[in-house]
Amino acid sequence: MHYVFNPAPTVSVPIVGTTARFPVHRIYCVGRNYEEHAKEMGFTGREPPFFFLKPTDALVVVNAGATGTLPYPSLTQNLHHEIELVVAIGSGGKNIKAADAHKHIFGYAVGLDMTRRDLQNEMKKQGRPWCIGKAFDQSAPIGPITPTAAAGDIATAEIDLQVNGQERQHSQVSKLIWNMAETIEHLSAAWELQPGDLIYTGTPAGVAAVVPGDTLRGSVTGLETLQIAVK
Ligand code: MN
Repeated sequence: MHYVFNPAPTVSVPIVGTTARFPVHRIYCVGRNYEEHAKEMGFTGREPPFFFLKPTDALVVVNAGATGTLPYPSLTQNLHHEIELVVAIGSGGKNIKAADAHKHIFGYAVGLDMTRRDLQNEMKKQGRPWCIGKAFDQSAPIGPITPTAAAGDIATAEIDLQVNGQERQHSQVSKLIWNMAETIEHLSAAWELQPGDLIYTGTPAGVAAVVPGDTLRGSVTGLETLQIAVK
């Protein structure tokens, strides 16, 4: 078989402790999954989970110890950071029960769900899809994936984002409204999960704008730090 042009290369993420890489299938994101963030966005924090997707090639993969580059995107005057714990799926399935969800998790990474907030808000107001606000090119920075066995107890981890050395977001993964297992149960009822899927699990309170020249440093206890500079 041959193609009319070269197919896009497989997007992949480095894995801590091995030279083998994690090939990415889809990127799912959970909306409003920390109560204080749901409240800052004008909601109660009691809604069922909901999901959106980003294109796989929206990932900006940043290696351990490196500072990645995030080009300031077009069309926005209000680019927001959302620090998130990312769950990497190692084996797929449909209708996975929360009690079995851990068997499907390969590992975890630190990610940023970058958001063109002005465009997202306009789409919300008009009842239109969020794609232009959420699923733009380079909207999903991610650090290396730490396999579950090496990651410690992620359910009790601290999650934190600093911009230029100042803390902007800080919470605990235990404060997720829908925890990782419940999220996998809900998600796999709607889509058949596949190995290579990434789930951005939601952001805590404190989302705010970044501008060119800012350096973002995201961390989750037990995982590789994600550092990226806005250009
Ligand atoms: Mn988010």
